[in-house]
Amino acid sequence: MSDVTGEDRRSTTSLTVRLWEARWYLLAGLAAVLVAYGFGPGRAWALPLAVLLLFAALFSAKPRARIAEKAMEVETAGLQRLSGEYLAAAVADPLIIFDRNTAVVHANAAAFVAFGGMSPGLSLPLKFRAPEMQALLDSVVSGKVASDELDYLEKLPVERVYRVSASSVGHGTDLFVLVFKDQSEARRIDRMRADFIANASHELRTPLASISGFIETLRGPARNDPAAREQFLQIMQNQTSRMARLIDDLLSLSRLEMKPYLKPGARVDLRQTLESVIDSLSPLARDSNLVVERDFAEGQLAVPGDRDELFQVFENLLENACKYGQSGGRVAVSVAPGGTASEPTVDVTIRDFGPGIAEEHIPRITERFYRVDVETSRAQKGTGLGLSIVKHILTRHHARMSIRSELGKGAAFTVHLPAN
Ligand code: ADP
Repeated sequence: MSDVTGEDRRSTTSLTVRLWEARWYLLAGLAAVLVAYGFGPGRAWALPLAVLLLFAALFSAKPRARIAEKAMEVETAGLQRLSGEYLAAAVADPLIIFDRNTAVVHANAAAFVAFGGMSPGLSLPLKFRAPEMQALLDSVVSGKVASDELDYLEKLPVERVYRVSASSVGHGTDLFVLVFKDQSEARRIDRMRADFIANASHELRTPLASISGFIETLRGPARNDPAAREQFLQIMQNQTSRMARLIDDLLSLSRLEMKPYLKPGARVDLRQTLESVIDSLSPLARDSNLVVERDFAEGQLAVPGDRDELFQVFENLLENACKYGQSGGRVAVSVAPGGTASEPTVDVTIRDFGPGIAEEHIPRITERFYRVDVETSRAQKGTGLGLSIVKHILTRHHARMSIRSELGKGAAFTVHLPAN
């Protein structure tokens, strides 16, 4: 009933619109009729001329309303042809269409990939046995709610967390849909952030607790002991420096995260940058009785990048080589062209001849706060963040780092920087 009324109203509107669009033809026609009527011999032609003009005006102008109507017809026909299957296939998330008996009617390809066998007729409560999933299916099928959501954990083959929404398709289809949004990555990032805050707090709390303990001792038992006071003040100063280093490293990391893109166009002269790094660490090398050897290839050794950031990369690596490879007596810094003809790189290797790193630690060594030996790292004023800063900067430079080590023979860290 409402459709018929709508149809009538549409055609009336379309006629009005056509007349309005042809208004100038009509006016010209009216003028012509009046002129014909004004002349005695033309009078007989006036009426047929008027009718002819009216028809010409109605059919000659290309009505915009008609074009819009046509477009709507095409769109409606297209949507009618579009089956639920096509729609489900176009959805990137796993999607399952099921019936009132909670049996699968159709599952898209993403659902097959995520959950394996999903043939039509399969019972969803048997496939997803979690009680909360059953409750979700019941609530939409019984019609208690039109749609509902929950978090669902799939343990095998790998642990995944989904936000699942169930809703009725409606329109008398007696069908329902389940859509699974994978939340695993977001959860992993949340957990990493929580771990990071816990680690950073722990790293800060340890020196803080030590300082607080010494303050108490200085105010109490050591109040009148100048020698003990001097010793405790020195420890407190070391602990504050440790906190300052940690805060500097945390700020470096957060600054890197805040500026995700490198300035395009800038090139860094690696020879000059490495010379500056070696100069700035020469006091540490001297104190560690180390000789720093250079082996720089001839010619241009420039790469696109940020000079300050690459300085920090080489500084962290050379500092580690001096700190942990001290017993080797020397550290070698080399630069050479590398990569392939299609993807050339400039490779910088910083190698020490100290105790090296056991194989099992190498894959985790660039994680934040990961240390092979916490006590050695602390004794060397390490924060456990140096290599994660290196990794972060290299990612921004589309570069990678390879680590080779043999226990007792030292470690070599090679940075492969794209040459173009
Ligand atoms: P840290 O501040 O502790 O030095 P890093 O992230 O720079 O933190 O390094 C992580 C850990 O990797 C260090 O604690 C150390 O155990 C190990 N490491 C790094 N470089 C070397 C090296 N050249 N030789 C041996 N061990 C190393």
